[in-house]
Amino acid sequence: MAAMGEDLEQLKQRIPLLEYLQRHHWTGHRAGTRSEFVGLCPLHEETHPSFYVNPRKNLFYCYGCGRGGDLIRLVELSQHLSFRQSVTYLLEELAPTSQLLEHTSGFYQLELHRHPEGIHYLAQRGVHDPALIEELGIGYARGGNMRPHLQQLGYSLERLLEVGLIRPQGQDAFCRRVIFPCRQQDRIVNLYGRSIGDAFPHRLLPRSKGGLFAWQSVRQFRNVILVEGLFDLAVLWQSGFRNATCAIGTHLTPTQLAQLGENPDRCVYIAFDQDENQAGQNAAHSLLQMLDKAGLKIRLVGLPAGHDPNSYFLAGASAEDFAHLLEEAPSL
Ligand SMILES: [Zn+2]
Repeated sequence: MAAMGEDLEQLKQRIPLLEYLQRHHWTGHRAGTRSEFVGLCPLHEETHPSFYVNPRKNLFYCYGCGRGGDLIRLVELSQHLSFRQSVTYLLEELAPTSQLLEHTSGFYQLELHRHPEGIHYLAQRGVHDPALIEELGIGYARGGNMRPHLQQLGYSLERLLEVGLIRPQGQDAFCRRVIFPCRQQDRIVNLYGRSIGDAFPHRLLPRSKGGLFAWQSVRQFRNVILVEGLFDLAVLWQSGFRNATCAIGTHLTPTQLAQLGENPDRCVYIAFDQDENQAGQNAAHSLLQMLDKAGLKIRLVGLPAGHDPNSYFLAGASAEDFAHLLEEAPSL
């Protein structure tokens, strides 16, 4: 959600006023022996410099038009934006797309509690712990109402189209989907939406899926469990297997592979779908070769036929049952 209070102070520290002005082609020079800078006012037409910037206080004042204030005030005046829109504008400048995705994900998180079908779907998939739902940032996209919310925050339609939140035909990319934000370090790099209806089950925005899911918290573990889907991960975390991570699919990107390889002593337990058509196993086997090349120890978790970790728990398996599968998993 939009930054407020101390976050605003932090924002102003992260974008010093003088730096901001210089980046936006303002030229000033030191005003005599003082620590202030002076130049032409960006807010009104003038030929003699009367716009002063104090970098220590992070404030400006113009003796020509009589206006002054901090960075946010400058953006309000120069870009003709509201206070809230100015904050969004500056956050975008700091971290372009992740900030937009942060706002989107925050909206979907609130929406989850406004539309019972989202919670109902989560329960159906065995995800019911409110603390976990909050921790993973799970939300719900009803479809059709995200755009006015983001436009009110100051995002243009072009920007939403560019990031793929709005499809070229004009409708929301995520409609009747449960949403998981994918983070890399602290930033959201993509959103994953699982359809709760008849639409194609999986959807990501047309951009990198980033690193392994929740890697910041999983990387501390020497042994990790690699799953295909976020619902597999959610039920495993809920059952205490906090060392589970997910590539969102069976294909690992070079970043994800490098993450697993950070610890050369790491053992990776692969717990992919045991599909009857062998697709899961085949994916697992091609992955094995990659991981083996990277020098990692690998163990293949033998789920019952037709199961993935999510359906295994839904069918009544306990944490002990899964722990037993881990113990029994043959190494390769
Ligand atoms: Zn002025």
